[in-house]
Amino acid sequence: MASRKVPGGYLIKLDLKTDGHVHTTLCRHASGSMEEYVKAAIQRGLERLFFLEHLEVGINYFERTWLNPGDFDRYFAEGNRLREKYGDKLFIGLGVETGYNPERHREILEKLAEYPWDRIAVSYHFMRIGDRHYNLVSRKPYNLEVLGRAGVAKVVSAYFDTLLEAVRTVPAQVVCHLDAVLRYHPQIRLERGHYLRIEMILAAMVERGMALEVNVSGCRMRGAPFPALDIIEAAVRRDIPLAVGSDAHRPEDVGQFGMLAEVFGESSVKLDG
Ligand SMILES: [Zn+2]
Ligand SMILES: [Zn+2]
Repeated sequence: MASRKVPGGYLIKLDLKTDGHVHTTLCRHASGSMEEYVKAAIQRGLERLFFLEHLEVGINYFERTWLNPGDFDRYFAEGNRLREKYGDKLFIGLGVETGYNPERHREILEKLAEYPWDRIAVSYHFMRIGDRHYNLVSRKPYNLEVLGRAGVAKVVSAYFDTLLEAVRTVPAQVVCHLDAVLRYHPQIRLERGHYLRIEMILAAMVERGMALEVNVSGCRMRGAPFPALDIIEAAVRRDIPLAVGSDAHRPEDVGQFGMLAEVFGESSVKLDG
């Protein structure tokens, strides 16, 4: 457990023995078998690992970056095999990163009801413009150009509005990478209206009992987690629990939480993991 006092005397607690967010090759943009992620977690001394694979419904995108319905059968079969083999060394959670689609929310809820998830997380990746979807967290010019043309501030507002709806709709325990929207766009900047929306999301999370993910992929990308420290502190002031996740898309990134020490202030963070 690592901790840090925030102004006002609140304490940020981070469970660094749990990696709450890793992917697998099943989503087709990650490398490494599920077993390699498990082995990496054990090697790092983690106690708990949650696979959190991509579920998307009704997305019209030029490539599939999420699981097909049948893939989740294989995911659970392999996950259960790994629990048999490594269960005495590591808790292996089989979860889902539910990508929200406001136009298909009923089907999303039906899909979620089909499997015994250990963790349901919610995020929002794909925004529809015209008859196509564009990935809000992608670095590909294909996405950045169209979303940028729609207006960065406007897209960011729409992102938070839809994420708020997602929080109110999906029976999730965790909200993933809350401020990762347009993270690769050169003009990304959060404005007052965006922060007001974030406050509404945090309030809805309190009502629904959801945790906030501290997504370490942000540290690798921009030197600060997703979301940024000021949003994490706003969540802590509301007593929202935090869930650390590497968002690893390759086994070597599992449980790499060292960068959090710098972000949270080297002297005040005690790393456990
Ligand atoms: Zn991914
Ligand atoms: Zn995501």
